[in-house]
This record gives sequence, structure tokens and C-alpha cells, in this order.
Amino acid sequence: MKAVVLNSHGPIEHLNISKDQSLQDLQYGEIRLKIMYCGLNHLDLWLRKGGTGDKITLPRIPGSDIVGIIESSKGEGVFNLSKGDTVLVYPGTSCGDCTYCQKGRETLCKEFKIIGYHIDGGYSDYINVPAKNVVKIEAQNLDAWAAVPVSYITAWNGLVTKGNLTMFDTVVVWGATGGLGYAALTIAEGFSAKTIGIVGSKEKELFLRERGYKGHIVVRSENLQKEIRELTDNQGVDIVLDHVGQETWKESLKMLKRGGRLAFCGVTTGHQAVTDLRYILGKQLTIHGSWMGDMNDFKEVVQFIEVNENLPYIWKTYSLDEVRDAHQVMEEQRHIGKIVLKVNEEEKAI
Ligand SMILES: [Zn+2]
Repeated sequence: MKAVVLNSHGPIEHLNISKDQSLQDLQYGEIRLKIMYCGLNHLDLWLRKGGTGDKITLPRIPGSDIVGIIESSKGEGVFNLSKGDTVLVYPGTSCGDCTYCQKGRETLCKEFKIIGYHIDGGYSDYINVPAKNVVKIEAQNLDAWAAVPVSYITAWNGLVTKGNLTMFDTVVVWGATGGLGYAALTIAEGFSAKTIGIVGSKEKELFLRERGYKGHIVVRSENLQKEIRELTDNQGVDIVLDHVGQETWKESLKMLKRGGRLAFCGVTTGHQAVTDLRYILGKQLTIHGSWMGDMNDFKEVVQFIEVNENLPYIWKTYSLDEVRDAHQVMEEQRHIGKIVLKVNEEEKAI
């Protein structure tokens, strides 16, 4: 099969197309998917560049957000799925047996691995995945569905599962036009919460309005805290979703009201932040981390999107052969919304 293989960490030239990549035989409980689309995430850049401190072995096929069609072959122990079903893949695997797994907290399992990061992913014609990882979806808007898993389940875990989001909350989202930020805004709007999206430019503000976003928008400036206070009658906000890290940490804690919650899920700008502990103590803040989300978050996200009919915005679609261009655009942040790879177009044999 054809796949993009990363043999060593480095710049985009390290992404190489292999046309004779082998695929293992199906194991118990696995299904084989013909991949239609694979969404890109910042995780893909971390994988390519290396140096994160995570235990990564190479070579590796990147790609965590996968939409595919079930092939004829399926392993033993697979029920309720048929050839031709269109499915979305939960991008993590775990032991299935430990205390965390049994409680549905797969991301805490010692064996938790992200597909397309710790194990081979979706920059590929075909993949074998555990049948328990997939949810059936309608066979339409597959490019947009391929932009859902990592962003939406991280936002869902931070805002809903751990953040106890309600319609009475005011929610601030940093980087509101990025994949994760946009997912968070969509989810908060779906709960009828009051939303404040923080963006870096007027162009990004316009993008949100064109997409039909009706909440508040603040273009980032030195007046940020003042603007947040004005929008909340000097109360501050209930939840902040921060996936930026070092650069925004202090501001996030400052804008929270008494009893506020910080949904923290990314360290894009660095991981050494200074904390004024008086905020946490005096305002009795809750800080929780989300390293992606669990299978249950994934299932709820699929239902949420089906009900709200609000899929992510796809900035551009690239072919597998254009993967280097796709990475370049993402690295230089020239896009708004999500980037996906179109992997397969028609029936073909392995
Ligand atoms: Zn486990």
C-alpha cells in the first residue's frame, strides 16, 4: 500500500512517500479500513520535528484523524460492522484491562497510545484498527468529519466532561479560529453558553463572522483583560479553554471569576509558566488538564455534531503526494480552519 513514512525527525523533506508499505494481518477484534480522508493536527508537526520528550519510535506513519470505509476482510470477534460501512476512528488505543480503562478513562492508561503518533496512522491507503474504536457515520461530508476527532474530543473533554459546561457559563476560548479553538467555540455555542473567542487579527474575526459565529470576539491586545471585564460586568468568566500554554497562562488565570475553571490542553508556546498562586487560592479556581479525550467523549462528540450539524471548516484539501505542502502551510500558520489529506478516491486493491 501507499503511505507517508517518517524515518527520522526533521524538516518537511523527512516525509517520504512509500509505495510498497506492508500491512499486517488482521488481529482479533480488528477491522481493515480503506482510508478516505485524514485530518492534520499540530500533533503531526510535533511528531515530525521530534524533541517533545514523548517516547516515539520510528519509522512512523503519521495521521490521527481518520475517516474510512470498512474493507471486506475483518478479524475474528468483530460484530455489528459490515463491509462498506463508513466510519470515524477514535485516535487512541489502550490496554482495555486496567482500572483506568475499566472506568472509561483510556487516556490515563499506561498503555495509552495515539494513532498516528505512538503507532501508525492515517497518511496511508489502508489501516487496521480495533473495531471498538470506530463509530459509523453517514457517507457525506467526509472531509469535514476527518477534521473532527482530536480537536473536538480534546475540547469536549476540557469543557464538558471535566469543565461541567452549562448554558449559564461564560466561556473564553484562546485561538478561536484554530482547529481546537473553533471546536471549543462550537461546543460552547451548542450548550447556549455565552462565548468570547480571542483571535489574533481582524481577518480572523471576519472569518468567524462569515462562519455564522454569533458570540463575542476580542482581538488580542494589551487591553484584553479590560475588554473581558467589560463583557462580563466586571465578574470575569466561568471557563477558559487554553491550548496555548506559557504565553497565555497568566492571562487565563487572571480573567477567571471566583470558582472558575481552567480547561488546559496545549503547550504550543512553551511549558514553563509563572503562576500567581493568589488567584488559585483566593478565587478557588479549578485547573484541569486534557490530553485528548476518552472514547466516551468521542461518542458524545459524534452525536453532538450530528444533532447540531456543525462540522469543522476545511481550509484546504491536499492529496497524499502533496503532504509536504500541507505540512509547510500548517507550520507557517497560513491557514484558518483545518487541513485534510484526501487519501482514496475509488475502489482499488491493496
Ligand atoms: Zn488500560
